[in-house]
This record gives sequence, C-alpha cells and structure tokens, in this order.
Amino acid sequence: MKEVNYNTNISLYGEYDIVVIGGGPSGVCAAVASARQGMKVLLVESTGMLGGMATSGLVGPFMTNYDRDGKEKTVSGLFDEIVSRLEKFSAVIAPEKVDAPSLYTSFISRYHRKLTPFNPFYLQIVLDDMVSEAGVEVLCYTKFADCVLEDGQIKYVILAAPEGMLCATAKTFIDCSGIAAVAARANVPTYKGSEESGVPQPATLMFEVDGVDTEKYAEYAARPEYPVKAYLMPTSKRYKVNHYHVFSVDAANAKSLTDGHKSARRQVLDAYSVLKDKTPGFERAEITNVASVLGVRECRHIEGEYKITVNDVVEGTKFNDRIAVYGYGMDVHRRSEKESGNFKVEVANRYYIPYRSLLPKNCSNLLVAGKTICCESQAVGGMRCMPAAMAMGQAAGTAAAIAAKNGKPLRDIDINELQQQLIKDGVILD
Ligand SMILES: Cc1cc2nc3c(=O)[nH]c(=O)nc-3n(C[C@H](O)[C@H](O)[C@H](O)COP(=O)(O)OP(=O)(O)OC[C@H]3O[C@@H](n4cnc5c(N)ncnc54)[C@H](O)[C@@H]3O)c2cc1C
Repeated sequence: MKEVNYNTNISLYGEYDIVVIGGGPSGVCAAVASARQGMKVLLVESTGMLGGMATSGLVGPFMTNYDRDGKEKTVSGLFDEIVSRLEKFSAVIAPEKVDAPSLYTSFISRYHRKLTPFNPFYLQIVLDDMVSEAGVEVLCYTKFADCVLEDGQIKYVILAAPEGMLCATAKTFIDCSGIAAVAARANVPTYKGSEESGVPQPATLMFEVDGVDTEKYAEYAARPEYPVKAYLMPTSKRYKVNHYHVFSVDAANAKSLTDGHKSARRQVLDAYSVLKDKTPGFERAEITNVASVLGVRECRHIEGEYKITVNDVVEGTKFNDRIAVYGYGMDVHRRSEKESGNFKVEVANRYYIPYRSLLPKNCSNLLVAGKTICCESQAVGGMRCMPAAMAMGQAAGTAAAIAAKNGKPLRDIDINELQQQLIKDGVILD
C-alpha cells in the first residue's frame, strides 16, 4: 500500500493517572476499580455505550461465575455488584437460581450451571451509574487510533473523536479493547488466533427474539436435534440467539470485519427463518434486537511476562501472583467448517490467572485485561468469558492504582498488597 506522511498538532484533552481503552466488561471494571482507589481515570470507548460484547454485541448470559462443578463461586467482587444492581431493575436472574440444563442454558448442561441471564439495556444503565459514581470520565464515540512512545513507555494515546483527533496522557494505560489495539501500536509482540494456524475462533452476530411461546418450546427444546441455540432472558418470552458462525474474520482489519458482518446479517435471517418455520413455540416470535457490532470471539493475544498454558488450566496451577480464579471449560469454537466443536479438554475445578499475564512485553506502563491477555489460544477459551474479563479488569485497575500511589513501575508492585486489596474488595483468590 502507498504510504502518505501526515504531520499535525493534536489538542491535549487531559492528563490522567490512568487511561483505559475499551469500555467492555474488563474495561469498565478496570476504570471503576482504579477510580475507587482515588485515581483520575479516563475511559475511552469506540461505540456509544459501555458494556462491550455484553451490550453492543448482545452477548449473554454471563457465563458461570462458579467452579467447574457449579458448587462454589470463583468470581465475585465487581461482578456480584453488577448483578445486584441489575436485580434492582428486575433485569437479571441471579446465577444461584439458574440450573443446567434449562431454557436459560439453551439446554446445554456441560459447564453451564449457574449462568446469569440479564437485560442488556439495564446493564448499560448500571454501568453508566457505576462509572459516574466512581468519578470516571468517559468518552464514548471515541476510538483509540495510535500512541506516542518514549523510552519504552506510552507517553500519549491518540484518539479519533467526533470533533477530530485528540490526545491524552497518563501514568498507566490499560488495554481492554478486546483486540489488543493499544498493545499492537506500542510495539508489544502479539499473535492472532491459534498459534498453529493464525485462524481465530469464528464470529457470530447475536440477536434477540420476543414473543416466544415458552411452554411449547420447553417441551421441544430438550430434544438433542433441536436446530438453533436460543437462551431464555429474564423475561419469559424473550430469547438471545447465538447460533451460526462466520469463519476467519480478522477483527483488526476493517475490510475483513465489514465483509464478516455482512455475511453474519444473512445468517441472522437464516436462523430466524429456521426458528419461525421449524421450531415449535417460535411461530409468532419477532426479531426485536440485532447486535450493532459483530460478536468477535478472538483476535490478537499479547506476549507478556507469563503465558498461561492449557496445562495450567487443566492442572489448576495455583500461581503465587494470582489475581483471578475461574472454572468454565475451554470453550473454543471450531475455526473452520471442517472442525468439530468445543470443550475438547477437561479443565480443573478451579484454575487461576496470574498478574504476570496482564503485563505485556516491551511496554512498561501498559496493562492488558480481558480476552487478549498472554495465554495460549486454547487456554483462553474459558477465561475469555465476561465474569473472568470483569475479574481481570478489576485486578488491572487495582494494580495500576497501587503502582501510581507507590510511584512504582507496574512490574515492581507488591503482589501481596494487590491481593490484599482485591480480597478487601470482595475478589476470590483461592
Ligand atoms: C458471539 C459470542 C458469544 C459469547 N458468549 C458468551 C456468553 O454466553 N457468556 C459470556 O460470559 N461470554 C461470552 N462471550 C465472550 C465475551 O463476550 C467476551 O470475551 C468478553 O466480552 C470480553 O470482554 P473484554 O472486555 O475483554 O472485551 P469486549 O467485550 O470485546 O470489549 C472491548 C471494548 O473495547 C472497545 N474498543 C475496541 N477497540 C477500541 C478502540 N480502538 N478504541 C476504543 N474502544 C475500543 C469495544 O467497542 C468494546 O466495547 C461470547 C463472545 C462472543 C463474540
């Protein structure tokens, strides 16, 4: 491609302790956790709402926050707070009340105990409340575009806002973009998709239908051959549909995303007609909501201080610097038409995420949280889910605040201090 040199001065929007890029489950929790520690925080989100895949992507329910056997909690902290705030709007079913298999789990039983169905509009309201109460400054409709580096650190992030290009500076930056957008521009080594093939997990365009005759569907849906995966939401006639796959979409490439999203729209029409024509109970159902962004399961993974392995997830390696615990299976969707499905390897009842996996190589004032942490692509299959992403975000925000308060580099913070603060804030580490 021909290159054009473009030099210009950009307005400095502000100076912060912490700038978080990406307002999805990990980013909101990172921003709230650091602001509650007294930090001046800017949260930058490219869409018009907070919540990431949970809202603009219409992904749900929240996957389990319990161990593999569904007996004891693994994720609490800000996740629990979000659930209890949603309860005030009657916009959630608490995980304790969701058994598997059931309509809430699309009749899947393996690893599907204790999920949390929620209403994505009320989640937007809850997240708005949490960031404003914590004093986080939020810029939606603003996209991280690039960064200016100095001595192996990010000095400024360059943001494409509706009013033009802006920049912001901070002591620490947290990349919660779901595509490691900041890391990739900050010279952090990254790789895409699976290590072997470079192919990502497939994408899916989520949608909701309302007006389902749930009693009729319940009798039918438990059959093994039922055609489309639909998850009951907190209201009795409304379902989220998570079904077809678009293969090989590169979410770090505009053309690939555009083409993938276009194919996915056609798949929504197909899935809807299968539901209406072939699924008892859906005869009068209508599409009421289609995600505004394509559901991207996997894009870049960063290289960091420690790469979590499949073996760590299978054995439940208990890292000394653990910052989160999870128990959901390695849910790696087939990367091509020819492959078979998910959950190929059994996980430990509880497995652990170390702080070092949030620390990228080559950039000393950046943390990464959410589905792009340093982890083998198969191993991240479970911990890419939203409760784990929230737990990682909470840990990253807390760590950034501790580093800023003590005037220490992110790599040198006292892990014991971080863990004690997380436990104080309701996080489970054992
Ligand atoms: C189809 C599908 C089904 C899934 N099913 C489930 C499920 O049932 N339960 C479950 O718990 N998990 C599920 N997941 C996984 C889960 O949704 C994600 O892994 C999780 O949302 C990851 O959180 P995150 O914060 O890392 O990233 P995201 O949710 O992707 O959030 C990233 C945010 O960053 C923003 N962003 C991106 N680039 C920029 C930029 N340059 N500048 C500013 N902002 C930017 C995005 O707009 C987004 O808001 C599913 C995922 C998909 C795609």
